[in-house]
Amino acid sequence: MSSNINLDNTEKAFAYKSDRLLKKARFLFSCMKSAALVKLATKITPWLIKSGFPIKKLIQKTLFEQFVGGQTLEDTGMVASTLSKFNVQVILDFGIEGGEKDDHHYDAAAEQFKKVISYASTQPNIPFISIKITGLTSVALLEKLNSPLTYFEKNQDLIPLETRINELPNEELHKWNKLLDRVDSISQLAAEKNIGLMIDAEESWIQEPIDFMAESLMKKYNKEKVIVYNTIQLYRQDRLNFLKNSFKHARENKYILGIKLVRGAYMEKENKRAQKLGYATPIHLSKEATDVDFNHAVEFCLTQLEFISTIIASHNESSNLLATDQLINLSIQLNDPHVHFSQLFGMSDNLTFNLSDAGFNVSKYLPFGPIEEVIPYLMRRAEENSSISGQTTRELNLINKECTRRQL
Ligand SMILES: Cc1cc2nc3c(=O)[nH]c(=O)nc-3n(C[C@H](O)[C@H](O)[C@H](O)COP(=O)(O)OP(=O)(O)OC[C@H]3O[C@@H](n4cnc5c(N)ncnc54)[C@H](O)[C@@H]3O)c2cc1C
Repeated sequence: MSSNINLDNTEKAFAYKSDRLLKKARFLFSCMKSAALVKLATKITPWLIKSGFPIKKLIQKTLFEQFVGGQTLEDTGMVASTLSKFNVQVILDFGIEGGEKDDHHYDAAAEQFKKVISYASTQPNIPFISIKITGLTSVALLEKLNSPLTYFEKNQDLIPLETRINELPNEELHKWNKLLDRVDSISQLAAEKNIGLMIDAEESWIQEPIDFMAESLMKKYNKEKVIVYNTIQLYRQDRLNFLKNSFKHARENKYILGIKLVRGAYMEKENKRAQKLGYATPIHLSKEATDVDFNHAVEFCLTQLEFISTIIASHNESSNLLATDQLINLSIQLNDPHVHFSQLFGMSDNLTFNLSDAGFNVSKYLPFGPIEEVIPYLMRRAEENSSISGQTTRELNLINKECTRRQL
């Protein structure tokens, strides 16, 4: 049976946007259609910011306003409160990206995450926050702990991660233990305040220690309810199996598996690196193969809702409809607390607001932070919207349709 949800109702999709913001979005998506313009902008913008060129205002009035909640928690709270009027929830994301910094900096980032959790717990529609482990420790350390990437092509006997951790020199072992302390104290507060903590998935050459940490946090905090969520990128060839193994681990250790399903954001970077270093890419060789695994993962999670809580994080209309159809066919309540749909703020409003209107749990992933900190996120959004030209055309068509309806 099909759920027959109309995802093209633009009146519902853009009801939260004023005429001015809608026109602005139309201008922005028209610009992002030009791959050459986006390529140039993503190259020079970080450099212009660093050199102090007065470009921040322009970014704030364009990309930032479209894709980010604000520079402060309070500004972002206003966006969250607008979304709440449409029954749309929020995954709050304090937009810091990785970089080699000192312990003092990582401790300060952990404190920021805790502030975000405390703030979220005071708001009616912010049940989740997200964190990036690379904002809390050195990427070099994570990369050192990861299995060598050739393991994708050779059936090697790998040294278990625990052994690799125990063999770290003292200074690095200390850094690893500090990271564990940071994520544990963040998770503990999340559990106390009943806020879901989503751990973002990152590049394959640092993901293994992130998965390891996520599993041990789930084992500790997801016994009765779901606090910690790991993220699985289905553009990786090995991740459907990984999902099944994670499920097995959760059942054996009697905890509820929290899983955010995504296709994956770093495809070009992954393929380039594999080619440069001469190992087989971990990424699927076609978009279709990624789609097949993503949809299998959705089906797998939805048939195990007693033991898995899942966030279907996607802008792909057919994957979203596959999930809504399956919920209906399995006679599962549309707003079952173990199923959430999510899209990035500023993208695919037609999915978010129409799904929410139909009664599903839906959230926007809403980043916030100072402009210079969210630049890498903004550059990824610009690239994503120029590389998947189909998506941009679709966004533009929907915006144009709504502009015509409003006679703008
Ligand atoms: C709420 C939310 C949270 C997210 N969190 C994360 C995160 O933690 N980590 C992360 O990496 N990403 C994250 N993403 C981004 C996500 O991974 C995707 O980049 C993005 O959503 C586009 O995929 P899609 O499912 O929306 O749909 P689509 O537009 O249908 O798919 C595009 C995606 O398909 C894959 N793809 C495209 N071409 C090919 C090809 N030739 N071969 C193989 N695969 C291909 C790529 O992953 C590409 O991004 C998140 C997205 C959302 C909405």
